[in-house]
Amino acid sequence: MIIVLKHGATRDEIDHVVQKIKERGLTPHVSEGKERTIIGVIGDERSIQNLPLSVFPGVEKVMPILSPYKLVSREFKNDDTLVEVGPASAGIKIGGKRLHVMAGPCAVESLERLMIVAEAVCAAGATILRGGAFKPRTSPHTFQGLGSEGLEHLVEAKKKTGLPIVTEVLDTRDVELVAGSADILQIGTRNMQNFRLLTEVGQTDKPVMLKRGLSATIKEFLLAAEYIMKEGNHRVILCERGIRTFETQTRNTLDLAAVPVLKKLSHLPVIVDPSHATGKWELVAPMAKAAIAAGADGLMIEVHANPEDALSDGEESLKPPKFQAMMQELKKIAVAVGREL
Ligand code: PEP
Ligand code: MN
Repeated sequence: MIIVLKHGATRDEIDHVVQKIKERGLTPHVSEGKERTIIGVIGDERSIQNLPLSVFPGVEKVMPILSPYKLVSREFKNDDTLVEVGPASAGIKIGGKRLHVMAGPCAVESLERLMIVAEAVCAAGATILRGGAFKPRTSPHTFQGLGSEGLEHLVEAKKKTGLPIVTEVLDTRDVELVAGSADILQIGTRNMQNFRLLTEVGQTDKPVMLKRGLSATIKEFLLAAEYIMKEGNHRVILCERGIRTFETQTRNTLDLAAVPVLKKLSHLPVIVDPSHATGKWELVAPMAKAAIAAGADGLMIEVHANPEDALSDGEESLKPPKFQAMMQELKKIAVAVGREL
């Protein structure tokens, strides 16, 4: 259920409601919006059935949450969530007027190769560096990533460029290690419903970017995000990265309609990854433009200096000059839809 507090409810009134809910063994999630404070109550509501919350001081009304997902829903929080990334001094907030582009190689292959791309994407206007250290590869015989050494290279690239890092965590056993280096923990498409992993990253204090599962419905996607938020980590970013359909001309089918649907159902920011969605570098720029026009809050783009030599996903990686040209084009689209890049 949702408890909507009166405009101007005092701190004591809010704390009183929170305390009463906790006493009955339920978890209150307080959301302080621009207009008013809302408390989402998660758990078995039978234990508060006889608690007259609607007459508590400072309470305006008590409403059921009708959607199957609670904390991620617009019913729980009407204002868009801004996810702050890196130190506050970096000023990166995903979900606001300004769009953010996360760019870098599919995988960290060496420090040298990473630095070339990191410097190029930084100069072109990317605000976050991507790169996989732990790679979820379809075949066990292909490059699986440099692991902890890859994380060290990412940290080095961050020191040199100042760009915060987004990188994937594949396994519950690596959450602490990856969270020690990453500014955003990425949950890949193959792990979208790895509930233990979602719970684990929900217990960290790092933003989490959750990629949509290969065949996940929007409802399943939002319920996966709910697992993270339920643990108390409300800094969740959703990422549409294409879904599996009958089409074979592209690697996946970019579900662009998911962007406005997600923005309507949820307050969480939405990023689009046209690289994995299409699997073809020629399609990345057109789909990136379309994503911004559709209301995405940012993009994730794969870039490699020599895609022909890439250890993974060379076919969908942009060379730095192409990335830079695309960024210039995207600025125009951003302005046309009232955003900034
Ligand atoms: C990635 O972004 O590195 C990745 C593996 O993407 P996805 O999980 O969407 O396939
Ligand atoms: Mn990739």
